Amino acid sequence: MSLTHYLARPLPSELDGLEDLAADLLWLSNTGADKIWQMVDPELWDATTNPWFLLERISETRLEQLRGNPVFLEELRNQIEKRKTYLECPTWFDRTHSLHGLQGVAYFSMEFGLDESLPIYSGGLGILAGDCLKAASDLGVPMVGVGLLYQQGYFRQGIAWDGRQVEYFPYNDPTLLPVVPVRDCSGEWLRVSVYLPGRPLVLRVWQATVGRVPLYLLDSNDPVNTPADRTITGALYGGDLEMRLLQEIALGIGGWRALEGLGIHCQVCHLNEGHPAFAVLERARSFAKQTGQSFAVALRATRAGNLFTTHTPVPAGFDRFPADLIRRYFADFAPELGISIEELLRLGRGEGGRDEPLNMAYLAIRGSAAVNGVSRLHGEVSRRLFQPLFPRWPEKEVPVGHVTNGIHVPTWHSAETDALWTKVCGPNRWRQPTEVLADDFRKTGDLDLWEFRMKSRMKLILAIRKRRKCRCSILGKVADEMATCSCVFDPNTLTLGFARRFATYKRPDLLLHDPNRLLRILSNPSAPMQLVIAGKAHPADSFGKELIRRWNAFAERPEVNGRIVFLEDYDMRMAKELVSGVDLWINNPRRPWEASGTSGMKLLGNGGLNLSELDGWWAEAYCPEVGWALGDGREHGEDPAWDAAEAEQLYRLLEQEVAPAFYNRDSRGIPTGWIAKLRESIAQLTGYFSTNRMVRQYTEEYYHPLNAAFQKRSAKNGARARELEEQLRQIALHWREVRFGPLSVDTAEGEMRFCVPVYLDEISPQWVRVDLYAEPRDGEGDKPFVLSMERAEPLAGAFNAFLYRAVVPSGRPAGDYTPRVRPFHPEIFAPIEANQILWYA
Ligand SMILES: *Cc1c(COP(=O)(O)O)cnc(C)c1O
Repeated sequence: MSLTHYLARPLPSELDGLEDLAADLLWLSNTGADKIWQMVDPELWDATTNPWFLLERISETRLEQLRGNPVFLEELRNQIEKRKTYLECPTWFDRTHSLHGLQGVAYFSMEFGLDESLPIYSGGLGILAGDCLKAASDLGVPMVGVGLLYQQGYFRQGIAWDGRQVEYFPYNDPTLLPVVPVRDCSGEWLRVSVYLPGRPLVLRVWQATVGRVPLYLLDSNDPVNTPADRTITGALYGGDLEMRLLQEIALGIGGWRALEGLGIHCQVCHLNEGHPAFAVLERARSFAKQTGQSFAVALRATRAGNLFTTHTPVPAGFDRFPADLIRRYFADFAPELGISIEELLRLGRGEGGRDEPLNMAYLAIRGSAAVNGVSRLHGEVSRRLFQPLFPRWPEKEVPVGHVTNGIHVPTWHSAETDALWTKVCGPNRWRQPTEVLADDFRKTGDLDLWEFRMKSRMKLILAIRKRRKCRCSILGKVADEMATCSCVFDPNTLTLGFARRFATYKRPDLLLHDPNRLLRILSNPSAPMQLVIAGKAHPADSFGKELIRRWNAFAERPEVNGRIVFLEDYDMRMAKELVSGVDLWINNPRRPWEASGTSGMKLLGNGGLNLSELDGWWAEAYCPEVGWALGDGREHGEDPAWDAAEAEQLYRLLEQEVAPAFYNRDSRGIPTGWIAKLRESIAQLTGYFSTNRMVRQYTEEYYHPLNAAFQKRSAKNGARARELEEQLRQIALHWREVRFGPLSVDTAEGEMRFCVPVYLDEISPQWVRVDLYAEPRDGEGDKPFVLSMERAEPLAGAFNAFLYRAVVPSGRPAGDYTPRVRPFHPEIFAPIEANQILWYA
C-alpha cells in the first residue's frame, strides 16, 4: 500500500516534508505547530485552520517566496526534525508491552474528532475517539482507527438575527481535507464492497494520519453506486433509521473488510459505542471462511478479541433496528454466516420475541469478551441497564467494568499552558505515564499561576471580541454596535463558561431558571461575573433549539449589558479557546445521564475550575479541595421541583462560594484561595483524567488479556475455540439437570461449616464453580461476599455429584449465605459467554 498525496500540484523540493506536516492531525494539535502555517498565509490560516487547504490555494508567487525564505525553511526543518524524533523515539509500549505479542487494535467509531479541519464529529463521543488515537500514538500502542468520511459531517450552526439556530451543511470537499486515498500496490484506489439487497455497495478507503496511528475512513460517494447509496456517508447522525442502519453496515462490515483489504491484522477490535457492532459478525464470518469452522466456533474464537465500550446511560440511547428491517438487509448476509436470519436476530435481542428490534448494544455484548462503561458511575448504571441479559445474576456482578474517559492533554492545552508546564515539568511530559507530575505542579508559585491565568483569560476575551465583531459585520450592524464588540467582556472579571450540546439532559436552561437572579449575580458590583455560552442542538430537537433562542434573546437584553455572550458554531477550535481561558466551567446534567463528560477535564491543566453535577467523571473526581459540586449524588429523574432546587443550589454556590473565592485578594491582588484550589485541581486530576492514563488502562486491563485469549482460541485454525464451543454447548444442554442436595451448616469454634451436594448431570466439575454468596452488609461497600466452595468427595450413590464445602467465620447468620453454581473455566469469559447460574433454594 502506498499513500499518494492528493495535492493537485507538487510542491517544490525545498518544501519537502511540508505536506507530511499538513497531513498529520496529531502534529496539528501540537502547540507551536501552527507557526509554520501562520507563515504560509496568516489570513487564510486564521480563517480556516486547515493546512491542506492552504497548500491547495497557495499561489506560485508565494511558493517562490517561501522557498527562498531562510526563516521559513529553518522553521520547516525544525518541525520536520521534531516530528521525526517523535515518530522514532521508543515509546511506553515498546518498553513495557511489546513482548506480549499485541500487534494491532482496531478502534471502530462512528465519529472522530481530531481537528476542526476534519469535521466528522458531533460531540463528546467523537472527541473521545480522536483523543484516544492521539494518546495511542504518544504511547506507541499499535492502534488503527476505522470510521466513515462524511461528505457533510455534522451540521454547522448559525444564529439568525432573532436568536434562532440555523443549520448549514457545507460540503466537505475531500481534496481539501487532510485525508488521502489509499491505493493498492497497482496504484488503484482501494475499495471494498458490502452487499445490500439486490446490489453491492462500494466503499472507497481513505486514510488520515494521527502521528503513528492511521485512521481509515470509508465513503460511499463512488460513481458506481446508485445515487441514493452515494449519499449514505452524507451526514453524521442525519437521515432516518434506515439510513443509520446503512451507515452502521458500512462502518462495521465495510470497516472490517477494509482492514483485511489493507492486510492489517488486528487481534483486538475495540467497539466505541454500539454503532460498529456489525464488525463482530464480519470478523467471525471472515474467520470461518479462512478456517473452515462453523460460525459459532468462529464467533467463539474472534469474540475473545472484541471489546465493547458503552457510552449511554439510558436504554433510549442504544440504536435499535426493527426486526423486519434487519430481515430485509441481512437476508443474504445471514446465509453467508451459515446461520438463519432469526439466529442472527437473536444475537441482538432480549426475550421479546419475533418482533423485538435488534439492539446494537446487545449485539456488541454478545459478540465481545468484555464490556466497559466510561466512568465509575456509568459502570454501575450500565450494569443495571444490561441486567436483563444476565437473568438471576446480581446486578453488581453483571460483567460490565469501567474505564473512565480522559482527554488528550496536549491537544487541549493552550500555548500559554504549554509554556508554563514545559517550564515546570519539562517537554514531552504527556507521552509518558503522567502520575509523577503532580508534585511538580504543586511547586508552582501563586504569582506564576495567577499571571498565567490573567494572560489566558485575556486571550479568550480577545478571541470572543473577534468572533463578535465578525458576527456583527455579517449581520450588518452599524458602526456603533461594531465598536461595542471591541470592548465586550472585562479582563478582570470572573469568567464563566457553559458550552456543550444542547441536549435536554444537559439542562442548558438551569442557569436561566430565574433570569433576574442570574442577572443580579452577573452584575453584582463588588463581584461581577461574565458568562460565555456555546452549543448546538440536534436539528430535530426543537426543545434544544428553543433553549438556544431563549439564551440568545436573554443575552441581547439591555440590562444584561454584554455580560453574556453566545458564540455560534461550537467546534473543537472554539472549545480549545474556551477551556483554556474561562475561570469556571459549569456543567449541570441530569444525573446519571452524563456517562462521563469530558469538556470539564479540558480545563484542568489550563488552570480552570469546575462547578459540576456529581455525575460522570466529576462524581469520581470531586473533593472540596478541587472545585464545587452540584446535586446530592442521587437520581431525581425529570422532577421539575428538583431542577428548581438545583438551580437554587447553583445560584447559591456562585454567590456564596465562587465569588468570594475569586474576589478575596491578598495585598498583591492575588486570590490565594482560588489559586490553592486550582493548584490542587491541576495536581490531583490532570494526569488521571487524560487519555494517556485511559489508553494505558485499556491496554493493560483489556487489550493484552483479550489478545492472549484470542491467540489461544484462534491458533491451529481455531482448534481451542472449537473445544470451548463444544464444552459450552454441553453445559447449555445439561444445565437444566444441575441441582443441589440439602445444605448442612455446622457451627463450632467460631466457624460455620457449609456443606452441600451438587448434582452436575453430565457437566464436568472442571467447568463449574460453586460459590457461597452473601449480600454486602450495610457499611461494607457494595461488593457482595463470594467464596468459592471446595469440591470434596463424590457422592457415592450418584453419577457425577460432589460435596462442596466452605468455612466462614461465624458472625453473620447462616441464613445470609446462599450456595450457587455457575459455569466457570479460566479460558471462558463468564458470565458474558455463559450466563447460567443456579441458586440454592
Ligand atoms: C469536549 C467537547 C465536547 C464534549 O463535551 P461534554 O461537555 O463533555 O459533552 C463536545 N463538543 C466539543 C466541540 C468538544 O470539544
